[in-house]
Amino acid sequence: MADVVVLGSANMDLVVTTDRLPGRGETIAGGTFRQVPGGKGANQAIAAARAGGTVRFAGAVGDDDLGRRIVAALASAGVDTTAVGRAGVPTGTAHITVAAGGDNTIVVVPGANGTLTDLLPAHAYAIATADTLLLQLELPLPVVQAAATHAHALGVRTILTPAPARPLSDDLLAAVDLLVPNEHEATLIAGVDDPYRAAQLLAKHCDVLLTLGERGAVHVTADAEPVAVPAFPVTAVDTTAAGDTFVGVLAVALAAGAAMPDAMRRASAAAALSVQQPGASDSAPTAARIDAFLG
Ligand code: ATP
Repeated sequence: MADVVVLGSANMDLVVTTDRLPGRGETIAGGTFRQVPGGKGANQAIAAARAGGTVRFAGAVGDDDLGRRIVAALASAGVDTTAVGRAGVPTGTAHITVAAGGDNTIVVVPGANGTLTDLLPAHAYAIATADTLLLQLELPLPVVQAAATHAHALGVRTILTPAPARPLSDDLLAAVDLLVPNEHEATLIAGVDDPYRAAQLLAKHCDVLLTLGERGAVHVTADAEPVAVPAFPVTAVDTTAAGDTFVGVLAVALAAGAAMPDAMRRASAAAALSVQQPGASDSAPTAARIDAFLG
């Protein structure tokens, strides 16, 4: 029994730093090279486990060294990896070039993630025995829909981070309990320019938690006044995966019975802690650090 099951992507991020981005057809020298476990699914699972949740990751890696290292990173964060599938293709990779000043290019090769087109039996079981399901859009859409439908039928709370943004069907939104878009995602999915208006339109289908970066987050539902929780004022050095940390910690708090405003405050604290450190999932704080921050 897990509080939270995450069905999502797991990639190895292959990160090089350069003075500038190379031009078309150009070869330039890189600075440093790092390999960091990533993918929105793995990031959310690690953030949730570090925040004290009982968390299971349902995804797929290849039968290769990168896959074994991602599974080891999940396990060392305390994530149950028994539902991780082994695909007959390589582990997903994200090839990231970061130039001085922060400009970047990213090429994602889905690899094993792309083989998940329908629910594996182990994934269906993991969902059925969880309190909350976390989904994102880095896996093929049919498996996201299948997981949400399965969870909805069983009364498992389903939270969807609609990233990378793409239009969503009414069927998928109907199976989701809480949609957590950022401003860009909300406006693209709803097809309007104003993020608040977008959140109101989406709230006709399911509850919405609109995240606004350093301006905080707003919970928008069809039948109650919006509830806004400000972000904590901190000096951000790297906001990568702030949203994934926010959602992972939110899910753990909700699964533990917290009311939405309290869960949002705890998630905001965790994200505020994570943006003060470089890195992605590796910058997600422990429960003790979140408690200390909140005083
Ligand atoms: P990412 O794509 O980087 O993972 P996102 O775009 O999905 O992030 P954001 O809306 O940027 O999500 O951030 C999610 C939450 O994290 C915010 O609602 C806020 O609570 C917190 N947060 C993000 N950026 C900052 C910041 N600079 N300072 C404090 N809190 C922040």
